[in-house]
Amino acid sequence: MLLPKYDPDNNETGIKILEELTTNVCQIQQQVLEEIITRNVNTEYLRGFLDGVYDKQLFKEKVPIVNYEEIKPYIERIANGESSNIISAEPITELLTSSGTSGGQPKMMPSTAEDLDRKTFFYNLLVPVMNKYVDGLGQGKAMYLLFVKPEIKTPSGLMARPVLTSYYKSSNFKNRPLNRFNVYTSPDETILCSDSKQSMYCQLLCGLLQRHEVLRVGTVFASAFLRAIKFLEDHWKELCANIRTGCLSNWITDVGCQNAVSTVLCGANLELANTIENECRIRSWEGIIKRIWPRTKYIEVIVTGSMAQYIPTLEFYSGGLPLISTMYASSECYFGINFKPLSNPCHVSYTLIPNMGYFEFLPVKKNGEKVAQDVRSNGVRDENCVGSETELELTNVVDLVDVKLGEYYELIVTTFTGLYRYRVGDILMVTGFHNNAPQFRFVLRRNVVLSIDTDKTNEEDLLKAVIQAKLILETLGLLLTEYTSYAETSSIPGHYVLFWELTSKGNNNEPLPELDREMMEQCCSTVEESLDSVYRRCRKKDNSIGPLEIRVVKHGAFDALMDFCVSQGSSINQYKTPRCIKSKEAIEILESRVVGRFFSQKTPSWQPINFA
Ligand code: AMP
Repeated sequence: MLLPKYDPDNNETGIKILEELTTNVCQIQQQVLEEIITRNVNTEYLRGFLDGVYDKQLFKEKVPIVNYEEIKPYIERIANGESSNIISAEPITELLTSSGTSGGQPKMMPSTAEDLDRKTFFYNLLVPVMNKYVDGLGQGKAMYLLFVKPEIKTPSGLMARPVLTSYYKSSNFKNRPLNRFNVYTSPDETILCSDSKQSMYCQLLCGLLQRHEVLRVGTVFASAFLRAIKFLEDHWKELCANIRTGCLSNWITDVGCQNAVSTVLCGANLELANTIENECRIRSWEGIIKRIWPRTKYIEVIVTGSMAQYIPTLEFYSGGLPLISTMYASSECYFGINFKPLSNPCHVSYTLIPNMGYFEFLPVKKNGEKVAQDVRSNGVRDENCVGSETELELTNVVDLVDVKLGEYYELIVTTFTGLYRYRVGDILMVTGFHNNAPQFRFVLRRNVVLSIDTDKTNEEDLLKAVIQAKLILETLGLLLTEYTSYAETSSIPGHYVLFWELTSKGNNNEPLPELDREMMEQCCSTVEESLDSVYRRCRKKDNSIGPLEIRVVKHGAFDALMDFCVSQGSSINQYKTPRCIKSKEAIEILESRVVGRFFSQKTPSWQPINFA
C-alpha cells in the first residue's frame, strides 16, 4: 500500500501515482509513521523512549531529535555483529557510507532489502516526469556515466559502501526492465568495474561509439560530468585510435570491461574516428557535448547546492543544453523529485515524496531579513547565513503538511530502516506546493564551508587540519596569523585553496624570510592528511579533487579583507574572519597580495573505514 506496485513502463499510471502521492500527503505521512513505529516499537532504541507503546503523540514527545553522534553507538554495535533489531525490526542488510563524516570517518546509515525496492520505486517515478517535458526519449539511449566506489566488510560481515554503489550492485539495478527509459550506452560491466579509470575510459568509448543514439547524457553530480569532459580531453586521441582500429587499448585489463566493450566495439570505424577527432581537435571545446552527441536533448546532473558552482563551466561545454537536476536524495533516505525538470537551475525545487519516510522540519530562524536576501537562489548564498547568525528552533518542529511558504527549515527524517527523528543537516526553503506536497529549494548543508565533489568540509575540520600544519610552521619560527579558504573550480578537477598570512615569531613587522618550499609543501600535505576520509578518498581514489594549495599573502592582506567585508555591511564589532570566501571581490583582494604559492606533492592516505 505504501509502495504501490505498477508497470513502470506505463506512463499514465506513473503520473496517476504521483498525483495521488502529492494529494494525500497528510494521510500518507501518518501511515508512514504508524507503519514505522508499529514495526519497530520493540527495538531497543524505541523501547527506551516509548516503552513498547505505539502512539504518534508520544513519539513526538519522547523520541529525541538526534544527530549522528547519538545513534553512532547503535550503528557501530551492528557493524560489530550485534543483531540489527536494536534499531530495526527488519534485518539491516548493509550500511551505506555517507559523504557526511563523523570523527573523520563516513557516517554509516542502515539499509534493508526492502529499501532497495523503495529506491527503485522512486527512480521509476522520475520517468513520467521527464516524459511529460521531453518528447521521444524512448527513441534512443542515455549516456549516463555511473561509477562504483570501494566497499568493505564490517567486522560482522555487512557491506559498508556508498548508497549508489549499493544500488548499482543490487539485483534491482541489474534486472531493471530494459524499458525505453533504461537503455544506457554503458554496459553494466563498465559501470561495475572498480577501477575508476578503466570504467571511465570504457564508458566514454561506448558512448562515442553510439554517439548517434544518445539522446541524453549525465552523471549524478555536476562535478563528475566535468571530470568526464576533462578525461575526454586527455584521452580523445587514444579513444579515436581504438575506434579507428577496432581494438581496445591493452591497459584495459578488467575482463568484464573487455568483454562488454567488445560487443559495442565491433570492427574498425574510420569514419566515426575521423569525425570525433575533427571535433576534438578544434581548439575551443565550447559546445563540445552537442557537437559530439548531436541528438542530446539535455544533460542530467545535479547542479543545486554546492554543485551550483559548476553551472557556468557546464554551460560552456553544453552548447545551450538544459541542465537537469532530477532528484534530491541521500544515504539516509531518498527525498524529493524535481517536477519541473526544465526549469532554470537557480529555480529548481524538489517535491518531497511522502511515502519515502516520515519528514519533520526544524524552523531556521533568520537574522532579520539578511538570509532572505542572501539566499536568493540555489548556490547564491552567504556562508554565514546558518550558524552564528541563525538559530534552529528545536521545539517548534512541524510536519510536512505544516511548513510555510518562504520559510527555511532543517530536514528531519524518520526512516523505514532504523533512523528516528534524524537531523539530515540540509537547510531547505519552501517555494510552493504541488497539490498538497510542499516543494523545497535546497539552500545549503549546515556547516559545510568547502566542497568540490562529494566532500563536505566544515569549519571545524578545516581548523583541525590547519592546526596540524601550524606545528610545522612553528619549527620554522613562523606564525599563522590569519587564514581563509575557497574552492577553486575554474580548472578540473577543482582543489582547495588556503590563503595564509604569516609573520616571523616575535617580529610582527619584519618582512617574511624566504619561505622554504619543501616545508610549505609539507604544510599542504599535512592539511590534506588531516582532512576527513571523504576528502582523502576523492583525492586518492576518485581523483576528483586536485592537490591542495596554500597561497601565502602579504602582511595586511586580511586587514584589507576585513575592510572589504565591513564595506559590504559586516559589523566592525562582530567581525570574524570568514573561514571560507566565495565572492569574486574578496578572493581578488587576497589574490592581489599573494607572495607565494605551494601545492601538496603527495596524495593523502586513505582507507575505506577504520573499524579498529
Ligand atoms: P550522501 O549521504 O553522501 O548521499 O549525501 C547526501 C547529501 O548530498 C544530501 O543530504 C545533500 O546535502 C546533498 N544532496 C543530495 N542531493 C542533492 C541535490 N539534488 N541538491 C543539492 N544537494 C544534494
